[in-house]
Amino acid sequence: MNFYVLKPFDNMVGWKSHFYYASIEEPILYGSHEICPNCSGPVTPRKLIPPYYISLESNNPNLARAGDFLFTENKSFFISENMKNIIQSEQIKGLEIESSPAHIKTVARIPLEEYVESKFNQYYYAQIHYGGGSIDIEKSGYEYWEKPECELCQVSVLIRAKGQILRDGSWEGSDIFYPRGGLVPLVTEKFINIMKNNMITNCSFYPAETWWKNE
Ligand SMILES: [Zn+2]
Repeated sequence: MNFYVLKPFDNMVGWKSHFYYASIEEPILYGSHEICPNCSGPVTPRKLIPPYYISLESNNPNLARAGDFLFTENKSFFISENMKNIIQSEQIKGLEIESSPAHIKTVARIPLEEYVESKFNQYYYAQIHYGGGSIDIEKSGYEYWEKPECELCQVSVLIRAKGQILRDGSWEGSDIFYPRGGLVPLVTEKFINIMKNNMITNCSFYPAETWWKNE
């Protein structure tokens, strides 16, 4: 089974100038972290609680339209209505999608109501499933500052690594997930094919084995 790293664009340098991303605006309501069942340490950023207010940002205001996948600064995502429908109809596992859309405040710094023609879709908060597999530290070439204390969540600070390779037999069947001990979301080939067949924009993929040199 092959896994791939999900990222916003095929070139991270200057990615914000290429397409819209979502900036989360006040008021921001935070829920709790997900907790490791073994060591009780936090393993995810604090979950955001609705309602969500976002601005669509880009350094290039001439972009024709915002993409399907809107990345944010904190490991959460907003996805277009189109993508939400595809995820649901294709039964993609691993994304928890809010049922009500975010309130869009501005687009490229201009209030939404000033746009005559609405070319911006509705966007929905989507949380990627934490867990669903565990990183194989040896195969991934991890070198830590300190060996992780917890064998389950494997949280520690990395000096270097090679890939994001899963421990044999640890994958639990999600098409998109943050593995335990991982630092980026992984997806399956099925996920990539569905994104490509539906021309979903603002996402790209590379093999999980080559993570470190692609970061
Ligand atoms: Zn733990």
